[in-house]
Amino acid sequence: MRLTSLLTKTQKTVSQEAESINAQLLLRGGFVRQEMAGVYSWLPLGLRVLRNVERIVREEMDALGSQELLMSALQPKEAWVQTGRWDTVDVLFKVPSQTKKEYALGCTHEEIVTPLVQAFVKSYKDLPTSVYQIQTKFRDELRAKSGVLRGREFVMKDMYSFHRTQADLDAYYARVSDAYFRVFARCGLQAKSVEASGGAFSDKFSHEFQVLTNAGEDRILTSPSWNRGQNEEVATLKEGDACPDHPTETLSWQKGVEVGNIFQLGTRFSEAFGMTYLDEQGERQPVLMGCYGIGISRVVGTIVEACHDERGIVWPKSVAPFQIHLVGLSGKTDEAQAALNAQMQEWYDALTSAGFSVLMDDRAGLSAGERLADADLLGMPLRILLSEKTLAVASAEVQWRQDRRSEMVLLDALLDLCKASFT
Ligand code: ATP
Ligand code: MG
Repeated sequence: MRLTSLLTKTQKTVSQEAESINAQLLLRGGFVRQEMAGVYSWLPLGLRVLRNVERIVREEMDALGSQELLMSALQPKEAWVQTGRWDTVDVLFKVPSQTKKEYALGCTHEEIVTPLVQAFVKSYKDLPTSVYQIQTKFRDELRAKSGVLRGREFVMKDMYSFHRTQADLDAYYARVSDAYFRVFARCGLQAKSVEASGGAFSDKFSHEFQVLTNAGEDRILTSPSWNRGQNEEVATLKEGDACPDHPTETLSWQKGVEVGNIFQLGTRFSEAFGMTYLDEQGERQPVLMGCYGIGISRVVGTIVEACHDERGIVWPKSVAPFQIHLVGLSGKTDEAQAALNAQMQEWYDALTSAGFSVLMDDRAGLSAGERLADADLLGMPLRILLSEKTLAVASAEVQWRQDRRSEMVLLDALLDLCKASFT
């Protein structure tokens, strides 16, 4: 992609409305546009990040054997009345229609998925089964001030599993938990699995996947090396206690962002809809359910909160919109500029045909400072810079965004260096 054909431009500053770091950097870089409080459009660069996170989530959910589907966002009021949640879920958007009928805008999908799966599950032979979707959710959040961390409209992956026995649900729940650790690690985030209350659904814990950052709204009792923790509602340990798994470390309260949440629903929803199956003896039995969410768009915001410096975003390789940011400094003479343009074009073609995703700064007449500031703000993992000076020694200057380490590399060795950087 050439910067001259990219729809968006970077901005030096954004309005004071964007108090959070993720909103500031995502808005300045042109990754998102704010439509109103808590509602964002995803622009070409931001959408590439969102899609990369989705791809990682899809791969891990598919590997669990879950089947992807896409359920309706507009939901019948009757289903919400049937589960008793029409009047109790405070964030539910209720939409009136011309015919005076009311609908729910999906903030979660138990009311849709339970009758949907019920239509196909008749006997023990149909269980266990699991489905998931990646979809826009709507929640009438009171406070929506943390950029894409808390939207009134946001992208969620929600998965639902259906089981015959508690042991089978327990085993699947544990596999999902492992998959969640992999998802967040692959996204460049260190997530902890934190015990939280099981809510109204069960007397068991639920598990929140929390990433420690100052932007977090939740308080977690944990220690640096512990990949677990307890949240405020359920903590049985105290600040200063030795960490159960790393006894040399003490526990302290830290701020966290909840990027995922897994729940055992038990028969809460299958009972509401009368969802049963016939066992081997032909007897009707209740179905046990689990539900598993990941805030896809919140993950993008969390990555920005966890991976940035004073210059801008530092995208992990796995989710970066482009791998390489190719920059050419302006030439002093027309002749030098023409030679530089030719080299830039040549390298853009060579890198893209070798399979790398490249963002090329082909804008005319900008200073080196402006170009490099944009490269730092946009945060691609590897910057390749060509100038009269580097070309004079048949080289490019490469710099890794992560640690800002830079070196001169002979053009002959450039492709190999890129291959080694992105394996
Ligand atoms: P929170 O406590 O932050 O309000 P929640 O516990 O109500 O979230 P869940 O119902 O568990 O959220 O939803 C599953 C996941 O969806 C959450 O773990 C979170 O990552 C994400 N999520 C929830 N609400 C929002 C929101 N308003 N904006 C963006 N992501 C959200
Ligand atoms: Mg939650």
